Amino acid sequence: MMRATVRLLSQASRNVYTPRSHTTAFIGLGRMGFEMAYNLFSKTLVDSNGAAHFVVCDARKESALRFSRNMLEQFPGAKIEVASTPADAIRASQTVVTMLPSSPHVRQVYESEAEGIIPALRSLPSEDIHSTLCIDSTTLDVQVARDMAAEVNKLGATMVDAPVSGGVSGAKAGTLSFLVGGSEAAFKRVSPILAHMGKKVFHCGPSGAGLGAKICNNLVLGVEQIVVAEAMLLGLKLGLEPAVLASVINNSTGACWSSSVNNPVPGALPDKEPPCTRDYEGGFATTLMLKDMGLASEIADACGSPLPLGEAAENIYAEVVKKEPQLANKDFSSVYHYLRLAADEESRKGRLGQSERM
Ligand code: NAD
Repeated sequence: MMRATVRLLSQASRNVYTPRSHTTAFIGLGRMGFEMAYNLFSKTLVDSNGAAHFVVCDARKESALRFSRNMLEQFPGAKIEVASTPADAIRASQTVVTMLPSSPHVRQVYESEAEGIIPALRSLPSEDIHSTLCIDSTTLDVQVARDMAAEVNKLGATMVDAPVSGGVSGAKAGTLSFLVGGSEAAFKRVSPILAHMGKKVFHCGPSGAGLGAKICNNLVLGVEQIVVAEAMLLGLKLGLEPAVLASVINNSTGACWSSSVNNPVPGALPDKEPPCTRDYEGGFATTLMLKDMGLASEIADACGSPLPLGEAAENIYAEVVKKEPQLANKDFSSVYHYLRLAADEESRKGRLGQSERM
């Protein structure tokens, strides 16, 4: 039996003709992108009776190769290629989804003269440009997203911002919420594609509106995760069992995602496996939450909207990253660990002060 292998895609190596209209690319196979691309590709494959083709691309080539190997293990006949650059990916694919860390990465992937999507699009025949659909699910600056979409749409292709809510667990389960910014026609076109990766698809308004909604949601989340950490730490100091306290909060007026799904204390959710059960690995990085709090404060400043709690939360995440750099890439619920370390340090100082006075 012939073993399926991952092909590397470059213009020269594309010797087998693959219709661009049947090909979907995914760029950015990190914590979220890996799970989203898997759901998108596997469901598209089933829908197309095996006719669909796929392209993946990541700045870390090993991530794209790992994804392809995994996909081929599950679907041995699947046609999947690894593109070296976003330009190669868009030349081969009518639809492209991007899931990148933030604004500079999106600018690089779309605008880079040598390797970017927009310069590559310009070199395609007009019918290929017009059929192209770009979906950016990154959480980034609203104005950068609007600029990218304006450039893509000006060429005659279609682009929407479609950031997500639901975390890595939602990405894996295919239950994300997509918050879409773009025209009504673009929304109709992207909805069935996004439905392969999520449960709810909201049309928030024109270009940039999906990101506006996402930034407001993450402002709530960022503040909420800190206060849940504070409450859990206080409860434990008062002698409460983590599972008892979490159960009370989750069945009372304090209930929220940060407590009921992403509770930061090991043992608080005995039936679930939040990142704290894996030493805070595998969730939403503290640095990414800090980035989102920064996006909120910048846009709030520009609109003249006050953010007293948002600013306090942003300062706390900034302190976590500065004072405990080992938590920067761990899930942002590790703010609980940071508070616990700070509390231990305070009581150590207190004890020291006491013994000095004695
Ligand atoms: P991640 O850092 O795990 O993944 C980002 C991926 O993009 C990495 O694989 C990286 O190598 C790749 N990349 C970076 N620059 C690139 C480039 N120039 N070309 C190609 N690939 C490049 O991040 P993540 O946790 O998957 O988050 C992605 C986005 O989703 C962020 O904007 C984040 O704010 C948002 N988000 C994350 C979560 C979560 O729980 N992790 C939830 C909702 C939204």
